[in-house]
Amino acid sequence: MSVVGFDVGNLQAVISVARNRGIDVICNEVSNRATPSLVSFGVKQRFIGEAAKTQEVSNFKNTASNLKRLAGRSFADPEIQEIEKNLTPVELAEADGMAGVKVNYLGEQQTFSNVQLIAMYLSKLKETTASEINIPVSDCVITVPGWFTEIQRRAVLSAAEIAGLNCLRLVNDLTAASLGYGITKLDLPEDKPRNVVFVDIGHSDYSVNVVSFLKGQLTVRGAAYDLHFGGRDFDKVIMDKLAEEFKEKFKIDVYSNKKAILRLRVAAERCKRVLSANPQAAVNIESIMDDRDVSTIVNRSDFEEWAEGLFGRTADTIQKALENAGLKVEDIDAVEMVGGTTRIPAIKTTISKILNKEISTTLNQDEAVSRGAALQCAMLSPVFKVRDFRVNDICSYPIKLSWAPTPEEEDTEIVVFDNNNNMPSTKILTFHRSEPFTMEANYVNPAELPRGINPWIGQYTIKGIDQPSEIKVKVRLNIHGILSVESAYTVEEKEIEEEFTNKDGEKETKKTKKLVKKADLSVVSQTTALSKALMDQYAEKESQMASNDRLIFATEAAKNSLEEYGYEMRDKVEGSYGPYIDPSIKDKFCSDLNAVVDWIYDEGDDQPKSVYIEKLEALKKVGSPVVERYREAEERPRAERALRATL
Ligand code: ATP
Ligand code: MG
Repeated sequence: MSVVGFDVGNLQAVISVARNRGIDVICNEVSNRATPSLVSFGVKQRFIGEAAKTQEVSNFKNTASNLKRLAGRSFADPEIQEIEKNLTPVELAEADGMAGVKVNYLGEQQTFSNVQLIAMYLSKLKETTASEINIPVSDCVITVPGWFTEIQRRAVLSAAEIAGLNCLRLVNDLTAASLGYGITKLDLPEDKPRNVVFVDIGHSDYSVNVVSFLKGQLTVRGAAYDLHFGGRDFDKVIMDKLAEEFKEKFKIDVYSNKKAILRLRVAAERCKRVLSANPQAAVNIESIMDDRDVSTIVNRSDFEEWAEGLFGRTADTIQKALENAGLKVEDIDAVEMVGGTTRIPAIKTTISKILNKEISTTLNQDEAVSRGAALQCAMLSPVFKVRDFRVNDICSYPIKLSWAPTPEEEDTEIVVFDNNNNMPSTKILTFHRSEPFTMEANYVNPAELPRGINPWIGQYTIKGIDQPSEIKVKVRLNIHGILSVESAYTVEEKEIEEEFTNKDGEKETKKTKKLVKKADLSVVSQTTALSKALMDQYAEKESQMASNDRLIFATEAAKNSLEEYGYEMRDKVEGSYGPYIDPSIKDKFCSDLNAVVDWIYDEGDDQPKSVYIEKLEALKKVGSPVVERYREAEERPRAERALRATL
């Protein structure tokens, strides 16, 4: 059974597996330790991850990016309309009531929802993992930002299901990282907790967790987020300045041309990275637009000035997290940072100053989240043995349940899970009703949610009540951070005889009243989950697309083998194979080989797999005996020499 952790970031994903008593980060097909979060559509097939990256600019209209920002969103969402539309060159569109993309795939316009896109991406990560560990991949843990709401979490879970993954837990990014921290620190205190601030600034967002560690356990005390603060915002600052400069210097308006914007973004990102390690960065963009090359130099001090507003914002999120945790700067023992953007020197110094501490470097900035996820998977998996370590995470947003008033009960709502409530956790609520009733779950503070996310979580009808009853309802915030009404039942008071020992040491019985379960009630839930019909449709479509991709891949491979054979034989028949081919067929064979090579460049460029295979077989019928004779002649003397040497 697989034990895998996927850190699915907005820019890239990192995959870790537990094996050989350790956690390893897996390299993808081009030996990178992170895989671009891109899905690209072509005329014949899809390209996912690295393959999509290589054509990010040339096929920009059909390349979906920023998948994490689309998860669980509706198309009308203001964040999609105002932010993502400007950051993604692909056309965003409505798909099955969700935010998605409109692309040209297999020669026609098609739309795909965010759930489908994430499923495609997860399928690719799954394949990359499987080819490395050589066993089928299913059990896994996937990380999500702590600020993801129910519908966003469900989008990722649905995508995992479509990809054939069994997600044992959706774990918050920083909780995963702090698990990795906790399990490797062997000197955690027994009584007075060690308080650590974890900061993650990635490509699009910024999270802070305040975590208390004791021997064998961690407790997330408080968290805070800046939903629009990450590497891409720093890129934008550089892009704006460069565009301004190029307008003046070269009289071009980069922002008027989508491809030019993309080239500018790539250059700005590179410039930003260079500036993290150098005082200066050169920017050169060849034929950015209208066949113009542009170039300039950016100083780190300029960049720091341009991005001053962003640096200034870092403090707020840390303060908020400390406040939520009920701790002060003096209470903090250490600070750990993860995420690519924490490489910017000014970020490091700003945060170090705010917390009045050197930044510790226990964690690998790029891999800690993924490794933590694999560890979490190992802990949940029956096949792996890991030292016990309790992870007490918290609910991201307070959740309330509400219902219609009754003559007996004035209350119509209750906060079931407050924001510092443990996750997972279960609550049992008591109601007095004589007929079926309905509860609705909502997030308490809509203003606190990512903009455009509906605070509605679900509606639950408790059925089967036909007389005045006391009812218990079991509500659970599960391991993924998703709410469910697990069960409901009526209870009644029963007199029970209990045996006890009296003061003289004699056994006696007494009657006590106790609440006992009387009957189970059925619960009908309506949630933000996708319908079974849509899930089935998505799964079917995914499997069709995947088998098409495999066929195209196999066809390409067959074509390449034919081409390779053609070239190799043509050379060798004229050379070393020459003496071993019957002169009467040599000319014909050579011209057949030439014909095949020419054909591949012409009408043979796009043929069914079987055609390439047949042609190769036909050539081999003539070629193989030649190769055979050559080998025998070559190898016989060698074997004889070897034999003589042993005598
Ligand atoms: P997120 O966590 O927001 O979903 P992610 O996990 O994909 O995204 P990371 O891989 O943590 O993001 O970070 C990527 C960001 O870090 C990019 O914006 C990238 O430009 C930036 N980055 C990477 N290296 C450096 C560097 N040396 N200096 C500055 N920024 C860097
Ligand atoms: Mg990340």
